[in-house]
Amino acid sequence: MSLPTPQHVVVIGAGIIGVNCALALQSRGFRVTIVDERPPGTATSAGNAGCFAISAVAPISMPGLIWSVPQMLMDPLGPLSIRWQSLPALAPWLWRFWRAGTPKRVEEIARDLGTLLGSVTQDYERVLNNAGLTHLVRRKGALYVYETQKGFDDATAEWDLKFRNGVIAEAVDGAAIRALEPALSPKFSKGYFVPGYSHTVDPAQLVTGLAEHFRRSGGEIRRARVDGFAFADSPDALRLNDGTELGFDLVVIAAGAWSKSLCQMLGHDVPLDTERGYNTTLPTPGVELSRPVCVAERSFFMTPMAMGLRIGGAVELAGLEAKPNFARAKALLSNGAEALPSLNMADGREWMGFRPSMPDSKPVIARSPRHANVLMAFGHGHLGLTQGATTGRLIGELASGQPTSIGLSPFRIDRF
Ligand SMILES: Cc1cc2nc3c(=O)[nH]c(=O)nc-3n(C[C@H](O)[C@H](O)[C@H](O)COP(=O)(O)OP(=O)(O)OC[C@H]3O[C@@H](n4cnc5c(N)ncnc54)[C@H](O)[C@@H]3O)c2cc1C
Repeated sequence: MSLPTPQHVVVIGAGIIGVNCALALQSRGFRVTIVDERPPGTATSAGNAGCFAISAVAPISMPGLIWSVPQMLMDPLGPLSIRWQSLPALAPWLWRFWRAGTPKRVEEIARDLGTLLGSVTQDYERVLNNAGLTHLVRRKGALYVYETQKGFDDATAEWDLKFRNGVIAEAVDGAAIRALEPALSPKFSKGYFVPGYSHTVDPAQLVTGLAEHFRRSGGEIRRARVDGFAFADSPDALRLNDGTELGFDLVVIAAGAWSKSLCQMLGHDVPLDTERGYNTTLPTPGVELSRPVCVAERSFFMTPMAMGLRIGGAVELAGLEAKPNFARAKALLSNGAEALPSLNMADGREWMGFRPSMPDSKPVIARSPRHANVLMAFGHGHLGLTQGATTGRLIGELASGQPTSIGLSPFRIDRF
């Protein structure tokens, strides 16, 4: 028996995921409303590193990483840190994170992510062409650089995993690195060039541009916080903080790192937490990069953007409530100054964002097993920008009740 086609779809969340879902649903003829307590694209999707990271098939939890936990607790400025105070609340997530890092699970995850990342370029091409936003994207590839032979050798297993999953990258030596990016320090003597990568010069503008296109095409964007659901036989309306209810035939939860509590209201206990990340955008860096550069041993990216050079990344496990520790942004920036000897660090704008992270680094793209009119699109972790258009397309397919173009079982909500 096929489900009746829903008419009015409400998407909770106006980040890169929610806006892409809304556009895909709109293009399939649904009447779509986005609800968000903030203006579109002003949460995590505003300040990211801007990379369409098509090679990022390896999960964050890799074999052996868990043994670094004591180090993570000791060094609050390291590439991956955990705040002591957050440890009890994080324990169940960390347990699952550890279990996701066995060699067998890592192979499975890389295969699943490889499938999801396989159509990123085509999916965005369609979305950006329709919205007239192709000028925000550059196709220059990306460069991963290593400062020690040991770092390069230690990364071999991860690159082999990528190559097994269809990633195309070329090993480069010091001369090739400097030919590609003359501003980089001569200390980088090894690396990989990934030609299929692209980046946006303005992640915030990308989301607001897509949201504007959605509105121009007849979509509604409502500014309110969702505080609960109203139920008949199944959930059929949102309770908003302005005291009103907003009815729906179908709802999509795309509220990024804040999706957990919304899922709980519907009876789903999902292991979603946040990997916080920091960066600084330098308006007058005094050096030029042509493409994103990842300083791999220190886990940070430097991306040339319209408003300056953005330097940052890394992971801090500290939940949604703890105050930002901008010493982390400063530490990443001084790493950036080592990588780019002529860097002008004046007038930097610091930022922190909440990556919505599942322990196995895979998003949830699913229909609720409890409520047929609830779809989920969250947990994209380090890859929300990258996976936005593909997630939107898949949510459109699910909403229409048609078979999805890839199997979505690896991304179901009850996989843990
Ligand atoms: C430092 C850093 C660098 C990154 N670099 C990259 C990169 O280079 N490439 C990449 O692909 N990804 C990158 N990411 C990850 C990417 O930014 C995220 O995965 C992505 O932005 C998540 O998008 P989202 O739409 O799920 O969430 P968000 O952008 O956080 O949007 C969620 C929205 O939901 C709304 N919301 C929440 N709760 C409610 C509620 N109850 N009612 C109403 N509205 C609600 C919020 O207000 C918010 O606007 C990076 C992240 C960080 C932190």
